[in-house]
Amino acid sequence: MAIRFYNSLNHQTEEFQPLEPGTVRMYSCGPTVYDFAHIGNFRSFLFADLIRRFLEVIGNDVIHVMNITDVGHMTDDQVADGGGEDKMEAAAKRLKEDKKSGRVPDGAIENPDDPYQVADFFTKAFLEDARKLGLKIAFEYPQRIPHATNNITEMQEMISQLIENGHAYVGTDGAVYYSVESFPKYGSLSGNTLEQLREGSGGRVQETDQAAKRHPADFLLWKPDQSHIMKWDSPWGTGYPGWHIECSVMARKLLGREVIDIHTGGEDLIFPHHECEIAQSCGASGKDYFARFWMHARFLMVEGEKMSKSKGNFYTVRDVLGGKVTGREVHPAVLRYELLRSHYGSNMNFTEKGLKDSATAVRKLNEFNKMLEAKTGGEAAEVDNSHPVLADFLNALSDNLNISGALGVLFPWMSGSHDNPQESLAVLRTINRILDVAPMEHAADLEEEGGGDDGFDVKALCKGIDDARASKDYAKADEIRNQLQDAGYEVRNSPEGTVATRQLA
Ligand code: AMP
Ligand code: ZN
Repeated sequence: MAIRFYNSLNHQTEEFQPLEPGTVRMYSCGPTVYDFAHIGNFRSFLFADLIRRFLEVIGNDVIHVMNITDVGHMTDDQVADGGGEDKMEAAAKRLKEDKKSGRVPDGAIENPDDPYQVADFFTKAFLEDARKLGLKIAFEYPQRIPHATNNITEMQEMISQLIENGHAYVGTDGAVYYSVESFPKYGSLSGNTLEQLREGSGGRVQETDQAAKRHPADFLLWKPDQSHIMKWDSPWGTGYPGWHIECSVMARKLLGREVIDIHTGGEDLIFPHHECEIAQSCGASGKDYFARFWMHARFLMVEGEKMSKSKGNFYTVRDVLGGKVTGREVHPAVLRYELLRSHYGSNMNFTEKGLKDSATAVRKLNEFNKMLEAKTGGEAAEVDNSHPVLADFLNALSDNLNISGALGVLFPWMSGSHDNPQESLAVLRTINRILDVAPMEHAADLEEEGGGDDGFDVKALCKGIDDARASKDYAKADEIRNQLQDAGYEVRNSPEGTVATRQLA
């Protein structure tokens, strides 16, 4: 099967083939752990998860690495050398003010002044969210999810190498900078030229930094700074690394190659972060490429607007799952599906209606799965990817991850007749290795029913409705139905009497 992916490197959709047949090496920029991850972050992470699962289902081993940024990502990261404060240290301050909002429970971070504790807390929170949403890599922590702070030695090695190769130098302020003029391809990913960057830098880089550097776009590799809380000894003084170097280093170390197959991230990372990664990795390796394919997810918007704290439309994963959008708990499979179902190459518009539609789709998929499981006793036939439904589904994905095309194969097939349920079950299971929503491998049961402890017994209440109806006590039947609905259940009639299932969103 020929796979075609859009490559940000040359703005073209190209045929994708891994450098080593059958093994794909892929790197994704991961979270900066200074806050809870938001749904936009997860759109980008799930986009990488989709690539990975698709490539696996068509027969590849995928070695996927994603970093945790816990140092060096500055608040002013759009300027080449990252001005402002370290996001981790700024988070410590913010956490003190945040306390009142209760987002981070009191005492959860013993000492919020300690950026390591802040990073530790939000790393755990991230992994929890990521596992709930079925991000496969989150089950490979820590082997495939390295922390920047555990790779400082390797960063220093690459910096030394870049100095030796003539790509980096010590500025007059003692910091180490990458010389963009030493790398003719600098700007080719983002479409910037050195002249534009020189002009564009006016006012955005402090005068003092400017004077210390050879070119305004030269970016920071190592900053000697005794006052930084997270600091390490180095040949260039005690200090901390620039943000970009971590990804070049961890990709090389954990993927074991100087040239990798795919690198992903959100569109905001194209410049400066990925431009700088390319300059560093190619500068160190002398190779023409760092990643053969650069793939970027467009931003998620909320009800048509940029998500921002000031607009009040900013949602973490926890906010959505906890009911902040729909007024009731949302099943993780629903949020996963919602974030996956629009094409990564267009802005996604997150809406309450979209989430509800996803709940309907996830419900349908699960009922279909349940029906097939019941008919077959869970015994699936053997099918391979040449099965017509699978072939069409995978073909759509092979066309630059055309997810709408793939779902457009799935749903009509589901509503057709299924004379061979064992074969259908096998097809669904293969598709679900990619979608992971029906059922979701690691999530709580979709049909999870209240019962026992709090005295809320769904089955008993359903029977109560049937009994009330049988004795023509319709007021009583309505009362129980409302009680179930208020508790978040959808109540329906079935041949076996009243059934109630948890609403998914
Ligand atoms: P950060 O934690 O800020 O380092 O970002 C982690 C990932 O989320 C990066 O790949 C970003 O490009 C991506 N990202 C941030 N905001 C959004 C958004 N609104 N939509 C999609 N991806 C985003
Ligand atoms: Zn990165």
